[in-house]
Amino acid sequence: MTEARSRTLAFRLLCLAAVGLGSAGLSACKQEAQDSAPAENQILWQRANVDRFSDPSLDARARSILARMTLEEKVGQVIQADSASVSPEDVRNYNLGSVLSGGNSAPGDKPYATAAQWVEAADAYFEASIDRSDGGVGVPIIWGIDAVHGHNNVIGGTIFPHNIGLGAANNPELIKQVAEVTARELRVTGHDWTFAPTLAVPQDDRWGRTYEGFSETPAITRKYAAAIVTGLQGEFGDPSFLGSDKVVSSAKHFLADGGTQDGRDQGNAVINETELHDVHGVAYYDAIDAGVQTIMASFSSWNGDKVHGSHYLLTEVLKERMGFSGFVVGDWNAHGQIEGCSVTDCPAAINAGLDMYMAPDSWKELYQNLLQDVREGVVSEGRLNDAVLRILKVKLRAGLFELGKPSTRQFAGDEAYLGAPDHKATARDAVRQSLVLLKNNDNALPVKPGSHVLVFGESADSISDASGGWTLTWQGGGLPNELFPKGESILQGLKTAIEDAGGTIEFSVDGSYRSRPDLAIAVYGEKPYAEFQGDVDNLLYHNGLIGDGLQNLQSAGVPTVSVFLSGRPMWVNPLINRSDAFVAAWWPGTEGGGIADLLVAGADGKVPFDFTGRLSFSWPKWPDQGPLNPGQQGYDPLFEYGYGLSYTDPTENLTDLDEALPADVLGVNKYNYFELGRSKEPWRQVTSSSAVEVKSVDYLAQEDALAIHYPAGQGGNFALVADSSIDLFREMNGAMELSFSYRVDKVAEGAASVSMGCAEEQSDCRGSVDVSRAFGASAAVGEWKEMRISLSCFADAGTSIRTINQPFGLHSQ
Ligand code: BGC
Ligand code: BGC
Repeated sequence: MTEARSRTLAFRLLCLAAVGLGSAGLSACKQEAQDSAPAENQILWQRANVDRFSDPSLDARARSILARMTLEEKVGQVIQADSASVSPEDVRNYNLGSVLSGGNSAPGDKPYATAAQWVEAADAYFEASIDRSDGGVGVPIIWGIDAVHGHNNVIGGTIFPHNIGLGAANNPELIKQVAEVTARELRVTGHDWTFAPTLAVPQDDRWGRTYEGFSETPAITRKYAAAIVTGLQGEFGDPSFLGSDKVVSSAKHFLADGGTQDGRDQGNAVINETELHDVHGVAYYDAIDAGVQTIMASFSSWNGDKVHGSHYLLTEVLKERMGFSGFVVGDWNAHGQIEGCSVTDCPAAINAGLDMYMAPDSWKELYQNLLQDVREGVVSEGRLNDAVLRILKVKLRAGLFELGKPSTRQFAGDEAYLGAPDHKATARDAVRQSLVLLKNNDNALPVKPGSHVLVFGESADSISDASGGWTLTWQGGGLPNELFPKGESILQGLKTAIEDAGGTIEFSVDGSYRSRPDLAIAVYGEKPYAEFQGDVDNLLYHNGLIGDGLQNLQSAGVPTVSVFLSGRPMWVNPLINRSDAFVAAWWPGTEGGGIADLLVAGADGKVPFDFTGRLSFSWPKWPDQGPLNPGQQGYDPLFEYGYGLSYTDPTENLTDLDEALPADVLGVNKYNYFELGRSKEPWRQVTSSSAVEVKSVDYLAQEDALAIHYPAGQGGNFALVADSSIDLFREMNGAMELSFSYRVDKVAEGAASVSMGCAEEQSDCRGSVDVSRAFGASAAVGEWKEMRISLSCFADAGTSIRTINQPFGLHSQ
């Protein structure tokens, strides 16, 4: 990872596009409480029907299993490890209670897998868990995964709109069907448990997980909680409950994950207990009443205390008062954030009421430490027994002791169920119901039969872009359509519908066209993201390329339509002004045809479906408006909660919106340094000498990339720098990577390196990673590639990760 290498010459020409931070998985290197006194709030958190799960014979069975377990087996039972860091052999030896697969963890060498690969792995873990050759009890494992908008980690699965879109549909019956399909597809891959639904009620849309919530008010979330849990697990109390086509559900993240200050992920909710209950808590009653078997604790804090360490919230409120008798699972190493804890040592969490630690890669040491804690009485055996009993009961209810190995169960390995026609039909229906029409001046929509339509924008033909985060990879995005073999892009859907109505279509990324269109449809928006990588300082969405394209078309008299993809409402006034019609499409998933169903009239001139979606989140008037929710003082949205147009209910034309931006809104681009041919504010391009030539060239659009010419024999450096610096420590802990697209035009014959750190010439704060092979011997000349380098690689190489004013440097001899 050093710059000095003994090879001789330099590569000469390289093209570079899109430099920024991205997610892990494909790396090249591997304030105070206002009034939170619980005593005064005894009236909160009460529910009538305590312990509906009670079943004397099942309870007795669980007790008899517990009685036969050794201390070691019990400790193993309360620990969940990630499939990327645990082998079936480990599960056998440590008697682990559960395996999860995180967003980037799948069997094989990719972050996603096929049904056959998943089933094979499921069998291996299961058989290891029930092995009794060491004289143990052999408790079957339960395997969990984030199927949060369909079974989103398996190739061929049906991907539904993210929750924000489902919220706009406001239809519990639809949501139940969505959950039923998801459960069935999970069964195909041998999974028993999904970490869904998310019951967050996001209050500040700057939060990167806003789209995982159904609405900013609890009303829709309450109705949906019961519908999803029932769809996933079956009707509580009915013999079909947790039957062969169902899975265990996990309501998350308890509590107030959507209430953190400034919308910071894993942050602190500074709110009184009434708000904690009325906004964030109420949907959990509905989930519990519907029989939800597990609840995931939140990474976040309430008034400064991490939920994972809160005896009050996990034990007194959730278990004792709300009467939750399933088990509480932790979030990804979140116990390590409790004061006094580390990821490998944390008695405080189980003592607070956590029943199963999510210890992806930390499980082994955690196991040793917990074992010792129980031996020493730091954790009582009574508490451990209670946690194990809760887990055993869930496993008994789920039938895991009776079911054979995963591959022998109903639906297992049957790929026909993944993306099955009726599953796709449900998803397409969900897409139609999720779209919200915000503007339709002069009835620009629907597309009339026989029209010649231009479709443009980078996301139009990308199923990956349309699916958002938590899709095949943790953060999502950037994957080719071939990885969605049963899906359809928005472009494909539009093409079919427009041609069926006797029209024609052409497509370009930048809005250029061969023959003058009757109408243009631009498909663009936020690129996928997930946890904390999606956190932003304000809701500004800027896209110069699309803005120019829309402007040119309007100037030429062509009506324009925007289909905006995003994980939250955003400030897009300039783009709304340049569009005659504007559709908020959220992240619709694999059924792009659902968009065309609403946008395109048939040959008879009639649209088959009307818009019924209504905003479940308020749309901002300014990018820096902060929390914007109905009922709040000074509530002044651009489009209010519940807004949405229909064809059958025409309104007056929307007049031009204010485009002025508050001066400080642009801020610092912490994650994007170079895009669409320009370095982003405040980053600027520098070279070490004038001999390093830089000029604009085309990649996906006109002049959106740079060609860098390194002088032979002399070498030099190209970098993006700023006067201010950014702190990437947290991002490094989150396994983020520096990523960039590049094309080697001429092979590098000497050392080449990518650096990050301080711009100043003292190299002890700037770490370099050697890329001589990628740009030299093993370069694929002329081909565009993506390179990703872990922030931790840079830190290991000496990068001052907390003060970076040069996020990217490319050096060549
Ligand atoms: C997320 C959870 C998720 C878990 C497992 C965490 O980082 O906060 O929502 O279920 O990872 O992937
Ligand atoms: C997991 C996430 C987790 C993240 C943390 C991912 O692989 O899927 O759930 O929060 O890693 O690094």
